[in-house]
Amino acid sequence: MRTVFTIGEALIDFIPHQKGGGLKEVDSFRKAAGGAPANVACAVAKLGGRSSFIGKLGADAFGDFLVETMEQVGVDTRYVFRTSEANTALAFVSLKADGNREFSFYRNPSADMLLEESEIAGEWFGEGDILHFCSVDLIEAPVKYAHRKAIALAKAAGAVVSFDPNVRLPLWPDRESCRQTILEFLPHSHIVKISDEELAYITGHADEQTAIDSLFVGDVQHVVYTRGPLGAVWYARDFSVSVPGQRVAAIDTTGAGDAFVGSLLSRLAEKPAFARGIDEASAREMLAFANKAAAITVTRTGAIDSLPTMGEIERFR
Ligand code: ADP
Repeated sequence: MRTVFTIGEALIDFIPHQKGGGLKEVDSFRKAAGGAPANVACAVAKLGGRSSFIGKLGADAFGDFLVETMEQVGVDTRYVFRTSEANTALAFVSLKADGNREFSFYRNPSADMLLEESEIAGEWFGEGDILHFCSVDLIEAPVKYAHRKAIALAKAAGAVVSFDPNVRLPLWPDRESCRQTILEFLPHSHIVKISDEELAYITGHADEQTAIDSLFVGDVQHVVYTRGPLGAVWYARDFSVSVPGQRVAAIDTTGAGDAFVGSLLSRLAEKPAFARGIDEASAREMLAFANKAAAITVTRTGAIDSLPTMGEIERFR
């Protein structure tokens, strides 16, 4: 089994506890560990895989809480750096009337953005390991250079690079610059996970097939396209396979994409042949597994708390 590394932010979500119905009646907040790369690392570990989180946290109680939460599920935190120059990132989550959530991030800058290029080392990565990165829409130097270096070193070591743009459109004032950052990172990845909500925006193509085709640039060999309740499609250069969505009573879709990617990568880490060697049968099997894992996640509230175990996936239908 190889290691799945995830790089980027880990943050604290403050989720209001509603007493009555309206947001104004909120009287307490639930504190939860989150941030897409941290969620993915936890998803892999919860399924019994080997995962390691690379990032920087504040030398504060929130940073301690994140390290504890990741370690509790089995994530290796030896590459978590701490700083007293900035606080651990925070996000406030508003529960909207339609059940969806709206995030407000507080970064000025937060500790995760201060991860430096010089802190990334090539000896961390081995042949067949996986490096997953995401949400580059909000990253700024120096963490951007740290990402670039990690990607280059992971590839030089023979690792597979996985990318989930995980774009947070409503938060970004300059959408074109956000899109350009995603397009800059795209060709350096082997596997890209993209959702139906992001596809047209990122590629600039309204036609679905044209949009998918346009993602096969540079080193990209596989595009995993998620379609919310409709399931997912795996596109390779020479085949495509799809799975229909699982019919479940969804109550909270937060972290569905992270559960999906984490469970998929946990399977990929067990396979002897990586990115270029994935055939149709193994793509179908990984897709079905991830589809189940994500479907279980949407039936429960929270992000890391709602991630499934292997036993739960095996028992699911
Ligand atoms: P993201 O969370 O990144 O926006 P999606 O919304 O496409 O991504 O969801 C990722 C995956 O989670 C889907 O491909 C599917 O497997 C699962 N999923 C999401 N929403 C539902 C739902 N309502 N019912 C069943 N499965 C779901």
